[in-house]
Amino acid sequence: METIIRGIEGIEEAAEIIRRGGLVAFPTETVYGLGGNALSPEAARKIYAAKGRPSDNPLIVHVSGIKDAEPLVTEITEDARRLMARFWPGPLTLILRKTERIPRETSGGLDTVALRCPENACALRLISESGVPIAAPSANLSGKPSPTEAGHVAKDLGGRIDMILDGGPVGIGVESSILDLSTGTPILLRPGAVTAEELSAFLGQKVGIDPAILSGTVSETMHPRAPGMKYRHYAPEAEMYLVTTRLFRDRGEAIGREERELSDRRTARWIRERAERELSEGKRVGILCVKETRPFYPPDSPDGTLSVKVLGSREEMLTMTRSLFRLLREFDEEKKDRIYAESCSDRGVGFALMNRMRKAAGMREIIL
Ligand code: AMP
Ligand code: MG
Repeated sequence: METIIRGIEGIEEAAEIIRRGGLVAFPTETVYGLGGNALSPEAARKIYAAKGRPSDNPLIVHVSGIKDAEPLVTEITEDARRLMARFWPGPLTLILRKTERIPRETSGGLDTVALRCPENACALRLISESGVPIAAPSANLSGKPSPTEAGHVAKDLGGRIDMILDGGPVGIGVESSILDLSTGTPILLRPGAVTAEELSAFLGQKVGIDPAILSGTVSETMHPRAPGMKYRHYAPEAEMYLVTTRLFRDRGEAIGREERELSDRRTARWIRERAERELSEGKRVGILCVKETRPFYPPDSPDGTLSVKVLGSREEMLTMTRSLFRLLREFDEEKKDRIYAESCSDRGVGFALMNRMRKAAGMREIIL
């Protein structure tokens, strides 16, 4: 199959493809999604096939507003309605009990459905023009990092889907927060740019954090609330390690400026020494740091065996979330054997960033 690539002028054509049961990758504010008609079992099957994704890992259904959501769920609870009014369009996915309109293929066999209204003009127009809700998981091959630009989608899914709408690089870069409202207490199943603190403050009730987020794994006997959790998530080809100091791990943001600098230098020295040793053993090494600590590392080696990549400035969490998946893809392309990444702050949106970094590192964190 030839994959057509168009700018946003291709929206009408894209909507036509969705209506006749085809697949279109499109930009959202979080990552690129791989969209198909959410009401069609065949479209859902095509999505699983294109991604190479297990079919019991449910898809997020994208709608253009509360009105679209109503026929898809048995009830929009009071909490759900307030959350939609406050956070939609935006990076918050809500899980509610589904009606018959959502086929089991779309919901991965569950009796709930995940709903989101994306804050991206291209995505919203595509949904409206299609006239149907759009099921869309991230537009990557299963096991690869979520795509944050159209080129990533083309690399993974070129030749496997009908069309890619290129809306430029995304703004957030990590997938939406997922909040389960289908049982008694609201539970966060995946951290994203809408934080647990924000949700708790808004609902006036502490939202639970699914234990799988904290441990990074789901055991065989555990029944995962987000089915995706039981599958191995993206890990780069390289063995990746997060590195931090005890001081920073224990004190986090409460750490003073001088202590922060001490902690940074200690972390960088350890990473430098380790990298030097491995380079001398013939390994290819990647280092992931922040703008503030870049001066502590050597320049990239001309032969490409060592490269140091900057996630962004600590002052701007969104530059960091936006860069992570792109940089991990770059390390893969450079065939690195090892990646050392400085751990970031766990606070606020940092919790989502660290969650993706911990998964990429297979939970390996070195604490100095
Ligand atoms: P992706 O869009 O590729 O990031 O994947 C969608 C994520 O949403 C997966 O991890 C799913 O497990 C989760 N998800 C979708 N629908 C549900 C649902 N009904 N209940 C729990 N988790 C869901
Ligand atoms: Mg995904």
